[in-house]
Amino acid sequence: MIDLKELILPKDNLIPLLRKLGKEARLIAPVKNDYGDTLFTEISDLDTVKIDLDNQPQSSLKPFLLPQQETLARYSIDHGEYTFTPPETEQPTIYYGVRSCDLTAVLYMDLIFSKPSRDTTYFARRNQSLIITLGCNAPFANCFCEATGSGPYLDFGYGLQFIDLGDRYYVSAGRRKGADVLEKWGYFFREVQEEDEEIRYQLFLEARGKFTRNVQVNHACRLLQKHPVPEIILEKLSSRCYDCGGCAYVCPTCTCFSVDDMILDETQGLRLRSWDACTSSGFTRMAGGHNPVDRRRHALKRRFLHKLKDDFARHGKPSCTGCGRCIDICFGGVDITTFIDLVTAGEVS
Ligand code: SF4
Ligand code: SF4
Repeated sequence: MIDLKELILPKDNLIPLLRKLGKEARLIAPVKNDYGDTLFTEISDLDTVKIDLDNQPQSSLKPFLLPQQETLARYSIDHGEYTFTPPETEQPTIYYGVRSCDLTAVLYMDLIFSKPSRDTTYFARRNQSLIITLGCNAPFANCFCEATGSGPYLDFGYGLQFIDLGDRYYVSAGRRKGADVLEKWGYFFREVQEEDEEIRYQLFLEARGKFTRNVQVNHACRLLQKHPVPEIILEKLSSRCYDCGGCAYVCPTCTCFSVDDMILDETQGLRLRSWDACTSSGFTRMAGGHNPVDRRRHALKRRFLHKLKDDFARHGKPSCTGCGRCIDICFGGVDITTFIDLVTAGEVS
Protein backbone atom coordinates (compact mmCIF):
# COMPACT_ATOMS: atom_id res chain seq x y z
CA MET A 1 0.00 0.00 0.00
CA ILE A 2 1.51 3.33 -1.08
CA ASP A 3 1.74 6.04 1.58
CA LEU A 4 -0.42 8.92 0.34
CA LYS A 5 1.28 11.51 2.47
CA GLU A 6 4.76 11.53 0.90
CA LEU A 7 5.87 10.29 -2.52
CA ILE A 8 8.58 10.91 -5.09
CA LEU A 9 7.80 12.50 -8.45
CA PRO A 10 10.47 11.94 -11.13
CA LYS A 11 10.99 15.27 -12.94
CA ASP A 12 10.13 13.70 -16.28
CA ASN A 13 6.61 13.20 -14.92
CA LEU A 14 6.07 16.80 -13.81
CA ILE A 15 4.67 18.24 -17.05
CA PRO A 16 2.47 15.18 -17.74
CA LEU A 17 1.07 15.54 -14.21
CA LEU A 18 0.47 19.28 -14.60
CA ARG A 19 -1.18 18.59 -17.95
CA LYS A 20 -3.64 16.23 -16.24
CA LEU A 21 -4.29 18.70 -13.44
CA GLY A 22 -4.72 21.55 -15.95
CA LYS A 23 -7.59 19.68 -17.58
CA GLU A 24 -9.51 19.69 -14.30
CA ALA A 25 -8.75 23.20 -13.12
CA ARG A 26 -7.24 26.54 -14.09
CA LEU A 27 -3.46 26.29 -13.73
CA ILE A 28 -1.47 29.27 -12.45
CA ALA A 29 2.32 29.29 -12.11
CA PRO A 30 5.27 31.72 -12.32
CA VAL A 31 6.06 32.69 -15.93
CA LYS A 32 8.65 35.16 -17.22
CA ASN A 33 7.00 37.66 -19.58
CA ASP A 34 8.47 39.52 -22.58
CA TYR A 35 9.73 42.29 -20.29
CA GLY A 36 11.74 39.89 -18.13
CA ASP A 37 9.30 40.03 -15.21
CA THR A 38 8.33 36.75 -13.53
CA LEU A 39 4.68 36.86 -12.51
CA PHE A 40 2.06 34.31 -11.53
CA THR A 41 0.20 33.74 -14.78
CA GLU A 42 -2.63 31.54 -15.99
CA ILE A 43 -1.19 28.82 -18.22
CA SER A 44 -3.35 27.69 -21.11
CA ASP A 45 -0.75 25.62 -22.96
CA LEU A 46 2.14 23.89 -21.20
CA ASP A 47 3.80 23.20 -24.56
CA THR A 48 4.31 26.86 -25.36
CA VAL A 49 4.73 28.42 -21.91
CA LYS A 50 7.78 27.74 -19.75
CA ILE A 51 7.28 27.82 -16.00
CA ASP A 52 10.01 29.92 -14.36
CA LEU A 53 11.09 28.49 -11.00
CA ASP A 54 14.53 30.13 -11.11
CA ASN A 55 13.40 33.65 -10.24
CA GLN A 56 11.26 34.94 -7.41
CA PRO A 57 7.83 35.92 -8.77
CA GLN A 58 7.39 39.67 -8.44
CA SER A 59 3.73 39.09 -7.68
CA SER A 60 2.25 36.84 -5.01
CA LEU A 61 -1.08 35.01 -4.96
CA LYS A 62 -2.78 38.11 -3.52
CA PRO A 63 -4.04 39.43 -6.88
CA PHE A 64 -5.83 36.11 -7.47
CA LEU A 65 -7.36 35.54 -4.05
CA LEU A 66 -7.96 39.23 -3.33
CA PRO A 67 -8.10 40.96 -6.73
CA GLN A 68 -7.05 44.58 -6.97
CA GLN A 69 -10.66 45.38 -7.75
CA GLU A 70 -13.56 42.98 -7.53
CA THR A 71 -17.34 43.01 -7.44
CA LEU A 72 -18.71 41.96 -4.07
CA ALA A 73 -22.31 42.12 -5.25
CA ARG A 74 -24.61 43.53 -7.88
CA TYR A 75 -27.53 45.40 -6.38
CA SER A 76 -30.87 46.39 -7.77
CA ILE A 77 -33.57 48.64 -6.36
CA ASP A 78 -37.25 47.97 -6.85
CA HIS A 79 -39.74 50.31 -5.14
CA GLY A 80 -37.18 51.12 -2.46
CA GLU A 81 -36.25 47.47 -1.82
CA TYR A 82 -32.61 46.50 -2.37
CA THR A 83 -31.65 43.07 -3.72
CA PHE A 84 -27.99 41.97 -3.61
CA THR A 85 -26.71 39.26 -5.96
CA PRO A 86 -23.30 37.76 -5.17
CA PRO A 87 -20.72 37.09 -7.92
CA GLU A 88 -20.80 33.88 -9.94
CA THR A 89 -19.20 30.74 -8.55
CA GLU A 90 -15.42 30.62 -8.80
CA GLN A 91 -13.65 28.00 -10.91
CA PRO A 92 -11.26 25.44 -9.39
CA THR A 93 -7.69 26.74 -9.54
CA ILE A 94 -4.33 25.07 -8.97
CA TYR A 95 -1.40 27.29 -8.04
CA TYR A 96 1.96 25.67 -8.77
CA GLY A 97 5.45 26.84 -7.84
CA VAL A 98 4.31 28.88 -4.83
CA ARG A 99 7.11 29.70 -2.39
CA SER A 100 6.76 29.02 1.32
CA CYS A 101 6.52 32.72 2.18
CA ASP A 102 3.59 33.20 -0.19
CA LEU A 103 1.70 30.20 1.16
CA THR A 104 2.24 31.61 4.67
CA ALA A 105 0.73 34.88 3.43
CA VAL A 106 -2.33 33.02 2.16
CA LEU A 107 -2.72 31.35 5.58
CA TYR A 108 -2.60 34.83 7.11
CA MET A 109 -5.31 36.03 4.70
CA ASP A 110 -7.41 33.00 5.66
CA LEU A 111 -7.16 34.13 9.26
CA ILE A 112 -8.09 37.75 8.79
CA PHE A 113 -10.91 37.06 6.33
CA SER A 114 -12.49 34.53 8.69
CA LYS A 115 -12.99 36.92 11.64
CA PRO A 116 -15.02 38.65 12.96
CA SER A 117 -17.29 37.44 10.16
CA ARG A 118 -16.42 35.12 7.31
CA ASP A 119 -15.72 36.93 4.03
CA THR A 120 -17.75 34.83 1.64
CA THR A 121 -16.28 36.40 -1.50
CA TYR A 122 -12.72 35.58 -0.42
CA PHE A 123 -13.57 32.04 0.69
CA ALA A 124 -15.53 31.32 -2.50
CA ARG A 125 -12.17 31.62 -4.27
CA ARG A 126 -10.02 30.13 -1.56
CA ASN A 127 -12.13 27.00 -1.23
CA GLN A 128 -11.67 26.31 -4.93
CA SER A 129 -7.88 26.48 -4.72
CA LEU A 130 -5.17 23.85 -4.43
CA ILE A 131 -1.78 25.34 -3.60
CA ILE A 132 1.35 23.43 -4.58
CA THR A 133 4.40 24.94 -2.93
CA LEU A 134 8.05 24.62 -3.81
CA GLY A 135 10.35 24.58 -0.79
CA CYS A 136 13.33 26.90 -1.25
CA ASN A 137 16.70 25.15 -1.45
CA ALA A 138 18.37 28.52 -1.99
CA PRO A 139 16.82 31.79 -0.82
CA PHE A 140 16.61 34.72 -3.23
CA ALA A 141 18.82 37.74 -2.53
CA ASN A 142 16.42 39.69 -0.29
CA CYS A 143 14.56 36.83 1.39
CA PHE A 144 14.49 36.40 5.15
CA CYS A 145 11.66 33.89 5.62
CA GLU A 146 13.62 31.89 8.15
CA ALA A 147 13.55 34.91 10.48
CA THR A 148 9.75 35.15 10.23
CA GLY A 149 9.08 31.41 10.57
CA SER A 150 7.74 31.22 7.00
CA GLY A 151 10.29 28.96 5.32
CA PRO A 152 12.43 27.74 3.67
CA TYR A 153 10.27 24.57 3.92
CA LEU A 154 6.88 24.34 5.60
CA ASP A 155 5.32 21.76 7.90
CA PHE A 156 1.66 22.45 7.15
CA GLY A 157 -0.83 24.58 5.21
CA TYR A 158 0.00 23.50 1.66
CA GLY A 159 -2.03 21.18 -0.54
CA LEU A 160 1.20 19.67 -1.79
CA GLN A 161 4.78 20.67 -1.03
CA PHE A 162 7.49 19.90 -3.60
CA ILE A 163 11.15 19.72 -2.61
CA ASP A 164 13.65 19.61 -5.48
CA LEU A 165 16.05 16.68 -5.02
CA GLY A 166 17.76 17.16 -8.39
CA ASP A 167 16.20 14.73 -10.82
CA ARG A 168 13.04 14.27 -8.74
CA TYR A 169 10.71 16.02 -6.31
CA TYR A 170 9.98 14.92 -2.77
CA VAL A 171 6.24 15.53 -2.56
CA SER A 172 4.30 15.87 0.71
CA ALA A 173 0.54 16.19 1.01
CA GLY A 174 -0.59 18.63 3.68
CA ARG A 175 -4.31 18.78 2.98
CA ARG A 176 -7.01 16.48 1.67
CA LYS A 177 -7.01 18.02 -1.82
CA GLY A 178 -3.29 17.36 -2.13
CA ALA A 179 -3.65 13.78 -0.92
CA ASP A 180 -6.42 13.29 -3.50
CA VAL A 181 -3.98 14.27 -6.27
CA LEU A 182 -1.43 11.71 -5.05
CA GLU A 183 -4.13 9.08 -4.87
CA LYS A 184 -5.70 9.83 -8.25
CA TRP A 185 -2.45 10.19 -10.22
CA GLY A 186 -0.41 7.69 -8.21
CA TYR A 187 1.14 6.14 -11.31
CA PHE A 188 3.27 9.28 -11.83
CA PHE A 189 4.91 8.76 -8.44
CA ARG A 190 7.02 6.21 -6.65
CA GLU A 191 7.50 5.48 -2.98
CA VAL A 192 10.00 7.39 -0.81
CA GLN A 193 13.30 5.62 -0.14
CA GLU A 194 15.54 6.22 2.85
CA GLU A 195 18.06 7.96 0.58
CA ASP A 196 15.38 10.47 -0.53
CA GLU A 197 14.68 11.39 3.08
CA GLU A 198 18.38 11.86 3.83
CA ILE A 199 18.91 14.12 0.81
CA ARG A 200 15.82 16.14 1.66
CA TYR A 201 17.04 16.73 5.22
CA GLN A 202 20.52 17.63 4.02
CA LEU A 203 19.08 20.15 1.52
CA PHE A 204 16.94 21.67 4.27
CA LEU A 205 19.98 22.20 6.51
CA GLU A 206 21.96 23.69 3.64
CA ALA A 207 19.08 26.01 2.68
CA ARG A 208 18.93 27.38 6.23
CA GLY A 209 22.62 28.19 6.02
CA LYS A 210 22.30 30.15 2.78
CA PHE A 211 20.41 33.19 4.07
CA THR A 212 22.63 36.24 3.76
CA ARG A 213 20.43 38.69 5.66
CA ASN A 214 20.44 38.70 9.43
CA VAL A 215 17.08 40.30 10.20
CA GLN A 216 16.15 40.21 13.88
CA VAL A 217 12.42 40.07 13.37
CA ASN A 218 11.36 38.44 16.63
CA HIS A 219 13.66 40.65 18.67
CA ALA A 220 12.12 43.73 17.04
CA CYS A 221 8.59 42.38 17.66
CA ARG A 222 9.34 41.91 21.36
CA LEU A 223 10.90 45.36 21.72
CA LEU A 224 7.88 46.95 20.05
CA GLN A 225 5.52 45.28 22.56
CA LYS A 226 7.12 47.29 25.35
CA HIS A 227 8.50 50.46 23.85
CA PRO A 228 7.14 53.18 21.55
CA VAL A 229 9.02 53.87 18.36
CA PRO A 230 11.15 57.01 18.73
CA GLU A 231 9.93 59.84 16.55
CA ILE A 232 13.39 60.14 15.02
CA ILE A 233 13.05 56.72 13.39
CA LEU A 234 9.62 57.52 11.99
CA GLU A 235 10.78 60.90 10.70
CA LYS A 236 13.88 59.42 9.14
CA LEU A 237 11.89 56.80 7.26
CA SER A 238 8.89 58.94 6.39
CA SER A 239 11.09 61.63 4.86
CA ARG A 240 12.28 59.01 2.35
CA CYS A 241 8.80 57.68 1.52
CA TYR A 242 7.31 59.04 -1.70
CA ASP A 243 3.80 57.70 -1.15
CA CYS A 244 3.97 55.52 -4.25
CA GLY A 245 2.14 52.62 -2.59
CA GLY A 246 4.52 50.09 -4.12
CA CYS A 247 5.31 48.31 -0.86
CA ALA A 248 1.66 47.65 -0.03
CA TYR A 249 0.97 46.72 -3.65
CA VAL A 250 3.58 43.92 -3.74
CA CYS A 251 3.27 42.83 -0.11
CA PRO A 252 1.39 39.52 0.11
CA THR A 253 0.00 40.36 3.56
CA CYS A 254 -1.09 43.98 2.98
CA THR A 255 -4.82 43.46 2.67
CA CYS A 256 -6.39 46.86 3.39
CA PHE A 257 -9.25 47.65 1.04
CA SER A 258 -11.99 50.18 0.49
CA VAL A 259 -15.56 49.54 -0.62
CA ASP A 260 -17.44 51.78 -3.05
CA ASP A 261 -20.75 51.62 -4.86
CA MET A 262 -20.73 52.18 -8.61
CA ILE A 263 -24.10 53.32 -9.90
CA LEU A 264 -24.94 51.73 -13.25
CA ASP A 265 -28.32 53.39 -13.66
CA GLU A 266 -31.26 54.46 -11.50
CA THR A 267 -32.17 50.90 -10.56
CA GLN A 268 -28.90 49.02 -10.27
CA GLY A 269 -25.25 49.20 -9.39
CA LEU A 270 -22.16 47.34 -8.28
CA ARG A 271 -20.58 47.14 -4.85
CA LEU A 272 -16.83 47.11 -5.47
CA ARG A 273 -13.85 46.27 -3.28
CA SER A 274 -10.50 47.82 -4.19
CA TRP A 275 -7.03 47.60 -2.67
CA ASP A 276 -6.10 50.48 -0.41
CA ALA A 277 -2.96 51.12 1.62
CA CYS A 278 -2.33 52.66 5.01
CA THR A 279 0.87 54.14 3.59
CA SER A 280 -1.19 56.19 1.18
CA SER A 281 -2.02 59.75 2.27
CA GLY A 282 -5.56 59.28 0.97
CA PHE A 283 -6.17 56.40 3.37
CA THR A 284 -7.02 58.69 6.27
CA ARG A 285 -8.03 61.84 4.39
CA MET A 286 -11.51 62.96 5.41
CA ALA A 287 -14.26 64.72 3.51
CA GLY A 288 -13.25 68.35 3.13
CA GLY A 289 -9.58 67.43 2.79
CA HIS A 290 -8.58 67.32 6.48
CA ASN A 291 -6.17 64.51 7.33
CA PRO A 292 -5.88 63.68 11.04
CA VAL A 293 -2.67 61.72 10.43
CA ASP A 294 0.57 63.65 10.09
CA ARG A 295 2.10 61.97 7.08
CA ARG A 296 5.63 63.11 7.84
CA ARG A 297 5.69 61.10 11.03
CA HIS A 298 3.05 58.45 10.69
CA ALA A 299 2.84 57.42 7.04
CA LEU A 300 4.73 54.20 7.63
CA LYS A 301 4.13 53.71 11.34
CA ARG A 302 0.80 51.97 10.92
CA ARG A 303 2.12 49.54 8.32
CA PHE A 304 5.19 48.50 10.28
CA LEU A 305 3.50 48.35 13.68
CA HIS A 306 0.53 46.44 12.33
CA LYS A 307 2.84 43.72 11.04
CA LEU A 308 5.41 43.63 13.82
CA LYS A 309 3.61 44.77 16.95
CA ASP A 310 -0.15 44.25 16.65
CA ASP A 311 -0.18 40.99 14.73
CA PHE A 312 2.65 39.59 16.86
CA ALA A 313 0.54 40.31 19.95
CA ARG A 314 -2.60 38.87 18.33
CA HIS A 315 -1.22 35.77 16.61
CA GLY A 316 2.18 35.13 18.21
CA LYS A 317 4.02 35.86 14.98
CA PRO A 318 4.43 38.86 12.69
CA SER A 319 2.43 39.25 9.50
CA CYS A 320 5.59 39.81 7.50
CA THR A 321 6.59 36.61 5.74
CA GLY A 322 10.09 37.74 4.81
CA CYS A 323 9.44 37.60 1.07
CA GLY A 324 11.68 40.64 0.55
CA ARG A 325 9.50 42.26 -2.13
CA CYS A 326 9.29 45.60 -0.32
CA ILE A 327 13.10 45.68 -0.36
CA ASP A 328 13.13 45.15 -4.11
CA ILE A 329 10.52 47.76 -4.90
CA CYS A 330 11.15 50.73 -2.61
CA PHE A 331 13.33 53.34 -4.28
CA GLY A 332 13.54 55.28 -1.01
CA GLY A 333 15.10 52.36 0.87
CA VAL A 334 12.18 52.35 3.31
CA ASP A 335 11.57 48.65 3.56
CA ILE A 336 10.60 46.68 6.64
CA THR A 337 14.16 45.41 7.24
CA THR A 338 15.42 49.00 7.46
CA PHE A 339 12.83 49.63 10.16
CA ILE A 340 13.71 46.41 12.00
CA ASP A 341 17.41 47.23 11.85
CA LEU A 342 16.80 50.69 13.32
CA VAL A 343 14.56 49.28 16.07
CA THR A 344 17.07 46.61 17.07
CA ALA A 345 20.12 48.82 16.76
CA GLY A 346 19.51 50.23 20.20
CA GLU A 347 17.29 53.13 19.19
CA VAL A 348 14.34 51.42 20.92
CA SER A 349 15.33 50.19 24.37
S1 SF4 B 1 7.89 53.01 1.63
FE1 SF4 B 1 8.84 52.98 -0.43
S2 SF4 B 1 7.53 51.61 -1.67
FE2 SF4 B 1 6.35 52.12 0.18
S3 SF4 B 1 5.08 53.92 -0.40
FE3 SF4 B 1 7.01 54.75 0.48
S4 SF4 B 1 8.41 55.05 -1.27
FE4 SF4 B 1 6.73 53.69 -1.99
S1 SF4 C 1 6.57 43.57 4.65
FE1 SF4 C 1 7.99 43.29 2.89
S2 SF4 C 1 9.13 41.39 3.35
FE2 SF4 C 1 7.35 41.44 4.73
S3 SF4 C 1 5.75 40.25 3.66
FE3 SF4 C 1 5.44 42.40 3.09
S4 SF4 C 1 6.62 42.73 1.18
FE4 SF4 C 1 7.32 40.78 2.11
